[in-house]
Amino acid sequence: MLVLLRPEAAPEHAMVVALLTSHGLAPRTIARDGRVALLADEAPGLVEALGHLPAVAEVRAGASWVLASRAWQPVATRIALGEGVVIGAGSPPAIIAGPCAIETEDQLLTVARGVAAAGARLLRAGAFKPRTSPYAFQGLGAAALPLLAMAREATGLRIVTEALDEAGVDQVAEVADVIQIGSRNMGNYPLLRRAGRAGRPILLKRGMAATIEELLLAAEYVLAEGNPNVILCERGIRGFDRATRNVLDLAAVPLLQQATHLPVIVDPSHATGRSELVPAMAKAGLAAGADGLLIEVHPDPDRALSDGAQSLSLEVFAHLMSELTTLSTALGR
Ligand code: PEP
Ligand code: MN
Repeated sequence: MLVLLRPEAAPEHAMVVALLTSHGLAPRTIARDGRVALLADEAPGLVEALGHLPAVAEVRAGASWVLASRAWQPVATRIALGEGVVIGAGSPPAIIAGPCAIETEDQLLTVARGVAAAGARLLRAGAFKPRTSPYAFQGLGAAALPLLAMAREATGLRIVTEALDEAGVDQVAEVADVIQIGSRNMGNYPLLRRAGRAGRPILLKRGMAATIEELLLAAEYVLAEGNPNVILCERGIRGFDRATRNVLDLAAVPLLQQATHLPVIVDPSHATGRSELVPAMAKAGLAAGADGLLIEVHPDPDRALSDGAQSLSLEVFAHLMSELTTLSTALGR
């Protein structure tokens, strides 16, 4: 459970800790910017007893995370990436687009120029790819990082790219404005801790079989290391039906926004696995209140080295962008 304390009642905080310890619990104190919370296991009758103490502002039964919660920080997190590129806190939807993997300089620059012209503000492209099969294209690795810098220089797009392991975090941080942690790594706690010290915002993708609470706890690992800038990404969860690659959990968007102050974006590409379904799900994501979208775009999807089936061509992406603009206006965004 989470016990939020009244900062002005600091002298009485010891009483709260004493009550918890008298129940055999070992509460953990989290203090930051004048705010204090206690995390502890639960015991019968304790939630009610705590509620009567004047030093207690709020008790949240069942909660095992603090820093990501709205109870801890009611104001939405706003992630500013310079020159008007902002994610979260009611800013216009951030459109992050680009190829699954960087293949060649020409491929990357063609997509970067195309998505920038269509109105995207961030470029996504993987140098290090977490592929399900060890025999599938694994990305160009470190050799592709200078190409990302080139694309940024050529277009002004902010760069989002994945760090696969702890050793890669600093290398990726040199060129990335935002470091992506992929679905397969959502529960890689040493990597999350390392990302918390990377000095860059983190785009954290929901694990393909992760609950909302597990996603929030993964974000908590990053926040607990002192990195306040985490973007949560709903990218579909594993279902029984292989008709789509995953099941887009759209309710996760308003649910997360209720639970956390962190920005929430939707990835309709990995959620559906099928390019013809992506535009509808991109629009649905915005309508559900997402702070942004992550969309795979390739100049020649049929020849893509990874995730071609779910990648939009530049033409389809440009058309989608015009629809998203109309939708954003209608939504008052
Ligand atoms: C990706 O964004 O290209 C990717 C590998 O996504 P996920 O981690 O969601 O599978
Ligand atoms: Mn991909």
